[in-house]
Amino acid sequence: MQETSLAPGLYLVATPIGNLEDITYRALRVLRSADRIACEDTRQTQKLLNHFEINTPTLSLYEFNEADRSASIVADLKQGARIAVVSDAGMPGICDPGMFLTKAAIEAGIAVYPIPGANAALSALVASGLNTEHFLFAGFLPPKPGARRTQLEQMRDAISGEQTLVFYEAPHRIAETLEDIEYVWGPACHVVVARELTKLHEEFLRGSVSEVREQLGSRERIRGEIVLLVQALPLAVGQQSAELPLTERIAELARAEGLDEMAALKRIAKERGVSKSELYRELQRTRPSGGRKN
Ligand code: SAM
Repeated sequence: MQETSLAPGLYLVATPIGNLEDITYRALRVLRSADRIACEDTRQTQKLLNHFEINTPTLSLYEFNEADRSASIVADLKQGARIAVVSDAGMPGICDPGMFLTKAAIEAGIAVYPIPGANAALSALVASGLNTEHFLFAGFLPPKPGARRTQLEQMRDAISGEQTLVFYEAPHRIAETLEDIEYVWGPACHVVVARELTKLHEEFLRGSVSEVREQLGSRERIRGEIVLLVQALPLAVGQQSAELPLTERIAELARAEGLDEMAALKRIAKERGVSKSELYRELQRTRPSGGRKN
């Protein structure tokens, strides 16, 4: 490979997400020629550098020091330094450090160069079989169940046509998240779970959310890194009017039949084929007073 000198600036370098063959020639040249490599975890990156016999010095740049570190890195860049940024895997800045430093460098008039390569979200999307023309990458969903369901409902209500939603998800939360997807879009909603991309045990589970939940439910444990894709459709007009929001249905039953809240919840649970406790949690989550009953 021919080594050419590197122009001063900030280089956002993608690294493999599991398979070392996914590093590019250009990434290797930049990592070799840079003055320094800012890494999410220097020990993790050192393994990659050792593998490719790269001796460039490293410094750490992670979520909690990025704001402070950016100032000194930008000062070096202004002096003409060539700084590469890498995360533990994939594209820096995508659910990983890099965005803050990039903004700071741009504001300081520094040249910023993307060095493309592996990325989990796009790799999963192109092999999912879902719509690749209209998609929304939304990173990690909130870990708390109530907030997660609320976000999914907001996403459902905001879309006007078919769209693929792309999320990163942890293996210990995928079962709960799929349950929420089923709640929000119904059991027939098409999903893809892309697991361990580019690695030995790469796997795609494609099907309705209820089928995929069944497949995963039969496993003792779900391991590995996961991208979750959802074929999101806006709710059909009929569907929207068939099921009133919970608080409105409670008010309707109170008006029409004089039912108190608990009696109304019991009735609605029967109507919707869900448990009363699930509806109660739902009511707390959506109640305008911040979820608490005074
Ligand atoms: N910057 C990375 C990128 O460009 O893809 C993503 C970093 S984010 C902190 C890590 C998440 O990406 C994981 O929790 C998982 O959801 C997803 N991910 C990373 N590598 C993956 C892989 N090989 N297979 C499936 N998902 C992966």
